[in-house]
Amino acid sequence: MRHPLVMGNWKLNGSRHMVHELIAALRNEVSTVAGCEVAIAPPAIYLDMAKHELAGSRIALGAQDTGTNVSGAFTGETSVEMLKDVGTKYVIIGHSERRTYHKESDEFIAEKFAVIKEAGLVPVLCIGETEAENAAGKTEEVCARQLDAVLKTMGAQVFKDTVIAYEPVWAIGTGKSATPAQAQAVHKFIRDHIAKHNAEAAASVIIQYGGSVNASNAAELFTQPDIDGALVGGASLKADAFAVIVKAA
Ligand code: 13P
Repeated sequence: MRHPLVMGNWKLNGSRHMVHELIAALRNEVSTVAGCEVAIAPPAIYLDMAKHELAGSRIALGAQDTGTNVSGAFTGETSVEMLKDVGTKYVIIGHSERRTYHKESDEFIAEKFAVIKEAGLVPVLCIGETEAENAAGKTEEVCARQLDAVLKTMGAQVFKDTVIAYEPVWAIGTGKSATPAQAQAVHKFIRDHIAKHNAEAAASVIIQYGGSVNASNAAELFTQPDIDGALVGGASLKADAFAVIVKAA
């Protein structure tokens, strides 16, 4: 059966000093917590250093994105094999900040999903609607479209042992989290949507909630049956707040 996963998405934050300090604090705070997997996703340039700092701990390493090419003349790109080489387990893709600022399409994100699976790493597929789409009652339609890009090309069984993060764009970095009931309704929709094609994959896929998760609202979110942990932005940069979220899961 699936287990909860709490992952810190550090976004564009950090320095060598911060990687060292924050990981040391996290090792202290979360090393004794059982029943919940913990991961951090620092900026790509610090992954190798973070892996060394995490040695011997139970905290896994995630990347915030990947390129789709293997090697060669692709200036500025990082390949999934390189992420694997430095010890990454999870790879976040489709984050709304990539979709918005880098114009990433559903199809391109599905391609990333495929290369991550091929490399034997675990995709963390972010999906979610904007505030305008939410107001227009299009939440399910948008989530279905973002899932279908992967379902169509790879089939529902690829969701077995992978991670989906439902991150309503209006909740990211705004301090305005979805309510537990709101999030649960969408998580159930996501799981049911996959179950239409493959019940086993739907039961095993980890569906994280993301969007203004903090030390005060995490426990209530985690009481919901289809919320399997969280993808945490701002609060993952503070060891004490992140530890409270991990313990709540
Ligand atoms: P915040 O937790 O800062 O709202 O960010 C959520 C997020 O985007 C995680 O990927």
